[in-house]
Amino acid sequence: MTGTPNRSFDLAVVGAGFAGLVCARSAALRGLKTLVIDRRPEPGARIRTTGILVKEVAERWEVPSRLTRRIHGVRLYGPGLGHVDLASPGYYFLATDTPALMSWFSREAGRAGAEIRFGRAYRGAARNGAWLDLHGLDRRARFLVGADGPRSAVARDFGLGRNREFLIGAEAEIEGIGGFDGDKLHCFIDPALAPGYIAWLVPGVGGVAQLGLACRAPHRPDLSALRRKLAGLFDFGAARIVGWRGGLIPVGGRVRPHGAPGVLLVGDAAGIVSPLTAGGIHTALDSGWRAAHAIADFLGDGGVDPATAVAEAYPDFVWKRWLRRLIDLPVPAALFDLLLATPPLRLLAQSIYFHHRGLLSPRLWQEVVWRDDRSRARGE
Ligand SMILES: Cc1cc2nc3c(=O)[nH]c(=O)nc-3n(C[C@H](O)[C@H](O)[C@H](O)COP(=O)(O)OP(=O)(O)OC[C@H]3O[C@@H](n4cnc5c(N)ncnc54)[C@H](O)[C@@H]3O)c2cc1C
Repeated sequence: MTGTPNRSFDLAVVGAGFAGLVCARSAALRGLKTLVIDRRPEPGARIRTTGILVKEVAERWEVPSRLTRRIHGVRLYGPGLGHVDLASPGYYFLATDTPALMSWFSREAGRAGAEIRFGRAYRGAARNGAWLDLHGLDRRARFLVGADGPRSAVARDFGLGRNREFLIGAEAEIEGIGGFDGDKLHCFIDPALAPGYIAWLVPGVGGVAQLGLACRAPHRPDLSALRRKLAGLFDFGAARIVGWRGGLIPVGGRVRPHGAPGVLLVGDAAGIVSPLTAGGIHTALDSGWRAAHAIADFLGDGGVDPATAVAEAYPDFVWKRWLRRLIDLPVPAALFDLLLATPPLRLLAQSIYFHHRGLLSPRLWQEVVWRDDRSRARGE
């Protein structure tokens, strides 16, 4: 016999990642009694992401600058290690002390009034009248959010859409690498080592660089091979690995359906990750925030079903899914080397990295042409 759970909440969020914590914070600020559970022992444990924030995230969420490092450009290398430098005036990326950043998001949600429980795994939920009882936790909620990442158990249990296409990413945190420009993201195109994506070296916070790569499943990332390849470019003489990160990145686009009565998916669980750049933090934060307000409208103010309310704002990534199909085609490495310094590839790369809206953006053309004029003036 199952009794009535001891504690009742308006909203239970499964997963204290970017999407879940922001959702909980906004829901609590809207006055919902909110619970977050996560199976990890603490907020900064088992980080799986590189944690780069794009400028738009930095502006919207105002994360403390002491947890970040500002990076102003991208050095894009071809398979033969020739490179082109990309930048956009006023644009930057933030490398982050990701464990500390997750702790900060967690504290912000707690300060707003959400109850956050680490070391608590979601083990299923059952409908019980107007409530959803959380198995094994003696808790129940009027609404459930699945913010539980790429292989969402909430999606599975409630018959929602599941992610089916993935990249596999792996990354080492390394102290003591020398000889790289610390104001650039170093990105490597290599269809043999990183089919379907790229490899990277990110100058991180506190003297740690992040060396990683991702590739289309079922290929496996080979970090040793990447390190061997870059041995002539950077100085690994004093390098020491101090940590590891990695995991699945869903790149098949938004799952369908993303909600059911009383249940809504956000972030990676909903497949809201750019299929092209594989960046998902921006969209995880945005979807968590939107979900919170849609649920608060629904529970408190007679709003429409939250899944319907967020549907238009959850991105579809139509052209990015098409570009992913192109990236997945086998392209000879030599072709990338040939195209690297040409205007078409620079236009495309500049548009992807600096979030210009499409290849027809006047600012994008101005930046590529402007840069060419300057380069010519310098005789490069
Ligand atoms: C190697 C790698 C590098 C990446 N680099 C970047 C980057 O630099 N910039 C960027 O924008 N994006 C990056 N991404 C993508 C980005 O990290 C994700 O899109 C983002 O973290 C999604 O946030 P989320 O909150 O939806 O999910 P997650 O961050 O995955 O959080 C899900 C949470 O749910 C918890 N959970 C899961 N199952 C359960 C359960 N059964 N019970 C309780 N808790 C559960 C997990 O412990 C976790 O805390 C990267 C991804 C990978 C794998």
